[in-house]
Parts: sequence; structure tokens; C-alpha cells
Amino acid sequence: MKIIREPRAMQRLAEELRAQGRRIAFVPTMGCLHEGHLSLMREGRKRADTLVVSIFVNPSQFGPQEDLDAYPRDFERDKRRLQEAAVDALFYPTDKAMYPDGYQTYLTVEKVTQNLCGRSRPTHFRGVATVVAKLFHIVKPHVALFGKKDFQQIVVIRRMVEDLNFDIEIVGCAIVREPDGLAMSSRNKYLNAEERKEALAIKKALDRARDLYRNGERSARVIVDEAHRILELHPLVRPDYVSLCDARTLTDVETIEGETVLAIAGFVGDTRLIDNCVLTDLSREGVE
Ligand code: AMP
Repeated sequence: MKIIREPRAMQRLAEELRAQGRRIAFVPTMGCLHEGHLSLMREGRKRADTLVVSIFVNPSQFGPQEDLDAYPRDFERDKRRLQEAAVDALFYPTDKAMYPDGYQTYLTVEKVTQNLCGRSRPTHFRGVATVVAKLFHIVKPHVALFGKKDFQQIVVIRRMVEDLNFDIEIVGCAIVREPDGLAMSSRNKYLNAEERKEALAIKKALDRARDLYRNGERSARVIVDEAHRILELHPLVRPDYVSLCDARTLTDVETIEGETVLAIAGFVGDTRLIDNCVLTDLSREGVE
């Protein structure tokens, strides 16, 4: 596996690969790799002959009071996992390489960033869109893979790709969960034993909402209230939002008609976790 730290060197490799007619799949990550990340890599392998992964804990997507410094990092372990996953190249830039002195260009995707995580993390998606656009220019992939756990992130990136004419296919991959149902996340490492148990409340709330939907309930109020009720049974869980929204515009709905996602964010202790379920898409939880 090639490890590349400089954007220019990565661009040169991408150009060479493209000149050889190779198809490049790209999985951007912030490291501390788990099965969720590896599932994206496996999907990437199926869709291209060269697999590039990036590890970059992007400062511009963290708010001033957030966990940038504490974010778990374990490069040696990540490197081993990437080698096992037969990754061809790892792009692992420094902060300085990505945001050199004098850096001042940021990208704003306007509407789909307003609701859900955009409410409590107002600069988050500006950082995400900016770094993903930069990574796309550096890695020059044909196809890029993202997890549906970060549902809003995929919607934002699809919007950006369409609006700015990036010639890149965006693939959304199913949420990978722990055996008990908790969505895998690098931030699960922050949870102590008691919090880890309580964190399951988020999945329980989603499951209960899905059952209501399956039994014919279509009122957002009823479903959201019931999800809140489940979360309230768990005193360590402090909901940030429970939102039933249109899966494309991400605006809240009153009645479920088109494709609708129930998205939940909550603090478990100090750790902010997110999860979601596309209620109207229960048969197709896989790749899109
Ligand atoms: P992160 O390192 O948290 O920025 O995540 C990198 C990529 O992995 C993003 O596209 C995430 O959506 C995806 N991802 C993270 N957790 C999961 C999961 N549990 N299942 C599927 N994809 C995930």
C-alpha cells in the first residue's frame, strides 16, 4: 500500500492511474477504522480496480467546543487494517498540507444543511463539503463511497456533486451495526460501560418508529413523540433532535408520503451519537 502525504503527489498518482485506464474508488474517513469503514472499502473494491482511502481528521468540520483534539486516532492500527483490506493507496495528509497558511476558501451547500445536524452544528457541513471537494480534486476518483449512518452528509455531498458538476458517482452504503444494534462509530470509543448500554436507546427508538410505520402509522407527530418517549426512559441520553423528514430535501414532514427518514441525534454522557432509519425503504437497506 502506498502512503501519500502530499496533495500534489496524490494528484500525480491519480493522473497516472487514469492514464493507465484504471478506475479509482475512493473512501474518505477520519480514521479509527471499524467495520463500517471496511464495508465501504469492500463495496469500492467491487466497483473499481484501484482503491484509495483517506484518513484526515478535518479541523474545519468541528465546532470550537467540539471534540477535534480528543477524536480517537490510531494510525498504526488503521494502517494494518488498510493493508488487510488490500487498499492500494492511503492519502494521509497533515493539517498544514490541506489548510496551508493563507487558506480562505470554503464551500456552502445551502438548504439541505439547515435542518438536523446543521441546527446544532452550524459550521459542520461547510467543513465537510469543503474537505470532500478538496479530496475529490486531489484523489480524482470515478466513484466515492459514503455510509448512510451519516445520512445528511450523503445528501449534502450528492447535492454538491450535482451542483458543481463533479464527474463522480456517489454510492451510499448500509449502516453497519454492532451485534446488539448500536450503529458503529469511532465515537463509540468514548462511551463507558453504562453509557454503552444506554446508547442502545437510539436504536430502540428507531425500531419502535419503524414498527409503528409498518403497522400503518403515518403521522409524524405520533412517531416522533413515541421515539422521544423511548429516549426519555434512558436518563443518560439527552436527545439533540428526533426528526422525521423528506429523504431528499431533509425538511420535516407532517405526514409520511414520499421517501421519509427518521433521524436521531443524542448525547449519551458527553458523546454525541447519530443514527437513522429510512422508514419507507425497509426492504432496501443496502447499497444505492
Ligand atoms: P468517519 O470516519 O466517521 O468520517 O466516516 C467515514 C465514512 O464511513 C463515512 O462515509 C461514514 O458515513 C462511514 N461510516 C461511519 N460509520 C459507519 C457505519 N456504522 N456504517 C456504515 N458506514 C459508516
